[in-house]
Amino acid sequence: MNHDTICALATANGIGAIGIIRISGDDAISVSSKIFDGKNINKADSHTVHYGFIKDEDEVIDEVMVSVFKAPKTFTAEDSVEISFHGSPHIAKKILEVLIKNGARMAKAGEFTMRAFMNGRIDLSQAESIADLIASENEASRKVALNQLKGGITNEISVLRTDLLNFTSLVELELDFAEEDVEFADRTALTMSLHRTEEKLRSLIDSFKYGNAIKNGVDVAIIGKPNAGKSTLLNALLKEERAIVSEIAGTTRDTIEEVLHINGTAFRFIDTAGIRETSDIIEEIGVKKAKEKIETAKILLYLYDELDSTPEEVILFIKEFYRHDLKIILLHNKIDLQNGYFENEFDAQLKAELFPEYTSEIIAISAKNKTGIESLKSELSDYIQNMETQENTIITNQRHYEALQKSLESVKKVEEAITGNISTELLAYELRYALEYLGEISGEFTNDEVLGNIFSKFCIGK
Ligand code: GDP
Repeated sequence: MNHDTICALATANGIGAIGIIRISGDDAISVSSKIFDGKNINKADSHTVHYGFIKDEDEVIDEVMVSVFKAPKTFTAEDSVEISFHGSPHIAKKILEVLIKNGARMAKAGEFTMRAFMNGRIDLSQAESIADLIASENEASRKVALNQLKGGITNEISVLRTDLLNFTSLVELELDFAEEDVEFADRTALTMSLHRTEEKLRSLIDSFKYGNAIKNGVDVAIIGKPNAGKSTLLNALLKEERAIVSEIAGTTRDTIEEVLHINGTAFRFIDTAGIRETSDIIEEIGVKKAKEKIETAKILLYLYDELDSTPEEVILFIKEFYRHDLKIILLHNKIDLQNGYFENEFDAQLKAELFPEYTSEIIAISAKNKTGIESLKSELSDYIQNMETQENTIITNQRHYEALQKSLESVKKVEEAITGNISTELLAYELRYALEYLGEISGEFTNDEVLGNIFSKFCIGK
């Protein structure tokens, strides 16, 4: 394998107390030693740190600490060096230049992690988890990424694969003895094992709903007629005057997105133009956008002002936009105008028509006085909590999710093949497919396109 020596800035590109440049490859230590004025690091032990200066021939560039790591116990499983310098982008640039002058080359995006994968130190799902870990913005996503880095998914998948592999070997053995009409693989035992695999796959696939929510956040669309109080609600949620509140109907023309973290989950609130039929061209665009927003949202907050709407209107809208994977919460706004809210005819009619098929929630609020906002927040938070699974391993990656779905499809086909008494050849064929899809997750079966796609999303230095 090609172990040419690569270098890159490993810390953020900006001013800091310390910056770190990472060098990896067969000549990482010898190239570094050429520019390091201090102890001869060619003779240094692995995992040692040395004080000295980086020089470009006679010119001193900076006073540094150099860490030496020898293969194979390094991040890339290659000889590696880290230079800690005074954190100036200018110094970083000069050190990289002198490294390149002495035989290293600039690393490509994700190349350090890609080498760790290529050299067998981590599998593909672990490589991906490093990107997730660096991108994690809250506790939940950090924990999930760390579990994946520690091999969470790898272990789960390898158990499933071993099971399938055993059966595949037996089924293939049958093919070798085709003339003798023997059955090595006990079909009942195989069916039972497939059931277990299917269950596990389903449970992992289900965990993606939660995993995706904590990793990427949840889109919440705030919808209601003009003047229902959408902007006021958004402000109340965010406790700041961000959206422009106005008394003229239909002024929230464009959509406004704001992120609020509730118990570690990012909820993206989308304020939209009032939904109504209109002849105003600009307003039309806003309405179209609102419809698009509901399409991608996971939660719909439908806000109504009792004095300015009818139950029929609300019911019509909800039925029109209902989707089984959309959580709908009705918000009865402006209860401060009602001298103390009590459930009335209006809400009773909504309940009769919409509960429980379309929604099971009406929360009475006053966006203006900020009452009921906490109930709304806990309702949102509960929505995420309810998604949590018993699974220790949570799928957060779209690629894994798709591979698991494809594996499940093949496992189901294997089952059908058994009950349908289909030929051993076809059974072996389907089993191979299931194995291959599972292998895609760890990177056992992969191709350059997939790899390029994954690592190009990393930045240089990772
Ligand atoms: P939007 O068009 O749905 O975004 O509505 P706005 O948030 O701009 O609010 C329209 C008007 O209703 C403004 O005058 C708000 O002050 C008022 N409003 C919003 N929420 C409440 C509320 O809970 N109580 C009362 N009394 N007025 C409210």
